[in-house]
This record gives sequence, structure tokens and C-alpha cells, in this order.
Amino acid sequence: MQGLLKLFSKKPLVPLLADYDPEIHQLSDPDHVVIPLVYPGRVRYQPTVEVGDFVSKGQVIGKSRIGNCVCASISGKVTEMTSIWTAQSFYSAAIVIENDGSPGMPAYERFDGPVSTNDLKAAMDRLRSAGVAPPWAMSGREYLEEEKLPELPPVTTVVITGVRQETTILTSQLLLEQQADKVTEGLRCIGELLPDARICLTAPEAHRNWAATKFEGLAEVVFLPEHYTGRIEREVVSRFLGRRIPNRESYRFHGIAVLDVEYLLAMVDALNGTSPFTQKCLTISGSGLDKAVTVRFPLGSSIRHILASQGLKIDDYTRPVVGGPMMGFAQFSDTTPLTYNNGLHLIAEDVNPFDPLAPCINCGRCTRVCPVGIQVHLVNRIIEFGELKNARALQPEACHECGLCADVCPAQRPIVQLLHFCNHEMVHGERYNWITGDNES
Ligand code: SF4
Ligand code: SF4
Repeated sequence: MQGLLKLFSKKPLVPLLADYDPEIHQLSDPDHVVIPLVYPGRVRYQPTVEVGDFVSKGQVIGKSRIGNCVCASISGKVTEMTSIWTAQSFYSAAIVIENDGSPGMPAYERFDGPVSTNDLKAAMDRLRSAGVAPPWAMSGREYLEEEKLPELPPVTTVVITGVRQETTILTSQLLLEQQADKVTEGLRCIGELLPDARICLTAPEAHRNWAATKFEGLAEVVFLPEHYTGRIEREVVSRFLGRRIPNRESYRFHGIAVLDVEYLLAMVDALNGTSPFTQKCLTISGSGLDKAVTVRFPLGSSIRHILASQGLKIDDYTRPVVGGPMMGFAQFSDTTPLTYNNGLHLIAEDVNPFDPLAPCINCGRCTRVCPVGIQVHLVNRIIEFGELKNARALQPEACHECGLCADVCPAQRPIVQLLHFCNHEMVHGERYNWITGDNES
């Protein structure tokens, strides 16, 4: 009876952080970094250095086919070109640099002073060379191998996220608060570079008393609540636009550029000629920490280096998750390098594995919580029985994979995995039988 009652007890929606450290802590340089070169759907770099070369922090070590660069995040010797399993669960070519303690390349050697934001081409070239690929020029075009790049429509809306959708990640809101003047400079730069674009900024509700005035005239500011359901990025962007962009389509193909505050600040540094993009902020949250801690680390630092900075180690956790608890990726090795990641959420408790055969009890919670109104339990069961054609009629492709349905499911069904599989099949034409675990020919 107790077990039955527990099944029906209301689960809380996405835990909020109990407390956090408002400082951003600078981490020391690790003894080595591993810098991935491939970001599927976004950009693919070719190395511009070879094994045995000595590189300085800030030096270009890889370039994409249209000139976007990736820079060394520490100084030292290139010891290996290798292939790694990344934190986002794909293989990538990567460059390994062993730290030799030598100083980084001074900004005056790297850049020829500031560039004018009235000269779009010069600004784009600067951003590219500084490792800050202009967000309005991207869209996965660089990842494609075809000779001809697809045309992009002009940017009509820029959305800058001052709040991350995962409630455990504080990078954007801390930077927004602590570097508000530099954020206004960044908003002015975007306004000058893209004079015809509408500029929108999200900020935490808690910043309302000062942020509305601070950014007035530079951006339309929308304040987002503490809870995850009000912060899901695709939902927030659709609020700005008054229409939805299909999930499988890049914003950029609809004239929209979305970037976060940290990226905006990196653009300011690059345009001013102050520094290339070599470091990233990330919030560590979860078990073993009294407060969530935000750190700034050299790109390509390992999970081990980041955990060790707080006196933590991977053996104490069942699930370190890169990203947040709702949309992050579980990690199984602490040697995995982190680059453009915003959060590391640590779970130490026992985690019940999903049971692919767990029966749905038709409680309807998943459907009630779904922000895009998918009939989640229905579509799940159709997918489970391999009826993908019928599932399509229920528009599973609208799924953001936000995880809310799985979070409330008392039967702990693998709901998001089933939807992900279905949508993957719809895009890539692969067929897989969930019940037998076989690929169908
Ligand atoms: S993950 Fe679940 S709740 Fe979120 S959009 Fe998809 S079906 Fe809806
Ligand atoms: S999938 Fe889970 S939440 Fe949805 S109806 Fe079934 S048991 Fe309830």
C-alpha cells in the first residue's frame, strides 16, 4: 500500500538551488588541455598546428573552412592529435596541449587594436580570428561539407539569454549582474553591427529592480521566473517572436540569432582587442556542495581538474551530468574535456535506471506538463510498439526534449528517450525496435 501511495505522490518540479556562491572563481591552468575540433551541426575546425609545435595561450590552433578559429587555452607543447568521446556524446578529433608554464601571447601581439563596429566585415574577421564565431553567421553551415554554402536570410531578431534555462546554471545571470556595464557595451555593439535587428534580452526576475533601467533603449528586456518551465529556451524565443520555430530547424534560417551573455562579453573583448576566447564559465551544483559554485576554466580542461578545484572526485558520484539535470548528458569518465559547457551537476544518490518495459498507468501527468501540448503518453506507447508512422500524426517532432514529462512520471518511463528515438528515426530514417532491441532491416 505504501508503495502504491508513493507512486501517486506528487513529485516536485525540478529542484531549485538551495544556495549559491555569487563569486566567479578563476581556476588555475591544468597540466594539459584537450581541445575538440568537431561540433556536429555547428562547426568543424582543421588543425593549424602539428604534434611537437609549441603554442602560446591565445594562439590560433584550428580554423574552419570559412575562417572561424579555435585558440589555445594554455601555453605548451602539442603532444597529440587524437579522437575523443566528448561531453555531448559524439566523437571528435582533438588537439592535446601539455602545459609548459610559459606565458600567453600578449593581446597587442595578437590583435591590431580595437575594430570599429561600423565596419561589419572587419568586425566579423576579428570575431572569427578571436575564436568568437559571429552568431549571426552560423547555423551549422560550417559543418556541412558541400561546396556551396546555403544562403541565410538577414538577421531580424537577436535574443541574448541572461538566464540559462537549467535552474542549476548561474553563469549568465552572474555575469549579467557583475559585468552589467560591459553587457551594455555589448548590446550597443550588436545594435551598431545589426542596425535593423530587434534586440531582446532575458534577465532573472530577481534583477527587475535595476536591469529594466540599465538596459533601457538597448534591448527589450524580458524577466524570467525562477522555475524551469518558464525558462525553456525554445519557449522563450517563441514568446519574443509570437510564433514557434520548428525544433529541428536552426533559428538562423529564420533570421534569428540566439547567444548568451557570456558570448556577448567575449564579443566585446574580441572587438576591443583585449583577449581571444580561451576560457569559459560553468556552475558546479549538486551533492557534496553546500552551495553551487561558478568557476572560470581554460577551454579543454578535464572534468577531473574542475572537480578537484572544489576538493571533489568522480568516484563519489553515480551521475555527474554535464549541463543541467533536465537536459544534460551523464558522464562516465572524468578525463572528458569541457569546452562550451555551462554546468556540471553532481548526483550522488542511487538513481533507478529507466525500465523500458515499465507500464504506463495512464495518469496523464506527462501530457499535462508538456509545454508544447504533445499527447505524451499516447505517442510514447505508439512508438514503443514500433508504430512510428502512426506516431507521426501526433507531431512528436515538436518535442524540445526538456525532460518535464519524465520528471513527473510516477512509473519512471523512458519517455524522452522514446521521443528522441522517434524523432531521430524521422530525421535519419533509422529503425530500431524498442522491445526486441534490434535494428530492423
Ligand atoms: S520532453 Fe516531454 S514535456 Fe518536454 S516537450 Fe518533449 S514531450 Fe513535452
Ligand atoms: S507515461 Fe508516466 S506520466 Fe505519462 S501517463 Fe504514463 S505513467 Fe503517467
